[in-house]
Amino acid sequence: MHQLPSLKTADETECRFFLFQPLQELRQKALPALAETSDPNGVDAGPIVVVDRNVLAAHRARVESAFPPGICRYFELPPGEGSKSIASWKGIIDFALSGQVRRNTPLVAVGGGVTGDLAGFAAASLLRGLPLYQVPTTLLAMVDSAVGGKTGINHDFGKNTIGAFYHPEAVLFDTEFLDTLPEREWLCGISEVLKYGYIRDSKLLEQGAALANPATREPQLLWEVVHSSVMIKSGIVQEDAREAGKRAWLNFGHTFAHALETLDGYRNINHGEAVYAGMIAALYVSGTRGGRVDNEPLLSLRTWYNLKLNRFESQIDKLVALMHHDKKNRDSSIQLVLLEEPGRPKLERIEDPAILYEAWEHVFRVLEAP
Ligand code: ADP
Ligand code: ZN
Repeated sequence: MHQLPSLKTADETECRFFLFQPLQELRQKALPALAETSDPNGVDAGPIVVVDRNVLAAHRARVESAFPPGICRYFELPPGEGSKSIASWKGIIDFALSGQVRRNTPLVAVGGGVTGDLAGFAAASLLRGLPLYQVPTTLLAMVDSAVGGKTGINHDFGKNTIGAFYHPEAVLFDTEFLDTLPEREWLCGISEVLKYGYIRDSKLLEQGAALANPATREPQLLWEVVHSSVMIKSGIVQEDAREAGKRAWLNFGHTFAHALETLDGYRNINHGEAVYAGMIAALYVSGTRGGRVDNEPLLSLRTWYNLKLNRFESQIDKLVALMHHDKKNRDSSIQLVLLEEPGRPKLERIEDPAILYEAWEHVFRVLEAP
């Protein structure tokens, strides 16, 4: 087991990261890790384990031996974004309160971003905060959503409109969960890895690209990518926990991506695919502002992403209008994360929407090229 430097925020909370070596079984290590970070006065009600039903089906032995059903109480969650709802949140609250639960009862989230966000928010709100443990099982959750303390659910009025910053006591990473990850979910996480490649460490561009191809997806490489990504994200979050300055760098490609996801109605394009297109757009704008950046690392992955965006080509004005409505843009101009060169992000206000039109045109053009 490899313990990475922990994340300490201004409000004195500390989140530890335990990354298991490939082939090192989570089952032998999870409970000791939990014990190490738990309340020194002892835990007097069994942990509540909120687990994605698909993950439990594919990894029952791994999960149950790490968190024995005799000690833990299991809450199974139907897979999918629909579970990030007030109804599911209430389901967990009802489940927890109808049994034994104390201020120090651990709540363990085993699943992807949906499980982590929902269970994290339940942990934040139950009895004003239960100790939370994240066990991310998708690449996206490992490299992104389980790190940084964002929790939340969706409301009819918008995604992630209800939530809290709430750091886990620890995040337990076992990359062997990814053995069963569907191919499209891999790409979702890889987009965020490439993002870290552009904003911080260009080595991740190559490594991320190697992970996109199933033939070059090696356990040791995967382990290193998770390790570097967690360190980059936690480093940025530690310096800027609430998104005033540096944390905004993590939005590289995302202002474009959110517009595309919204226009798509969150139906066909997943977050990683949208971020992939959004990064191509952000690199284009960077280039027009003197940035020395190469989009080849992204374009070389076109066949893996296989994104078909033709249906949006006639709707560029809508995409640009949606970018102005992004909650991170406070007035009519748009703040974008651009690159001076790989590893050197900067925030820039864009006053002229024409450049955003051009950027979208560029995305559609390069993704269609044979
Ligand atoms: P994300 O982590 O991308 O935000 P979700 O939490 O919605 O997304 O998980 C994406 C899908 O992958 C869900 O259908 C979930 O059940 C499934 N899933 C999560 N982890 C695994 C895994 N290790 N193996 C197989 N399927 C998984
Ligand atoms: Zn993202």
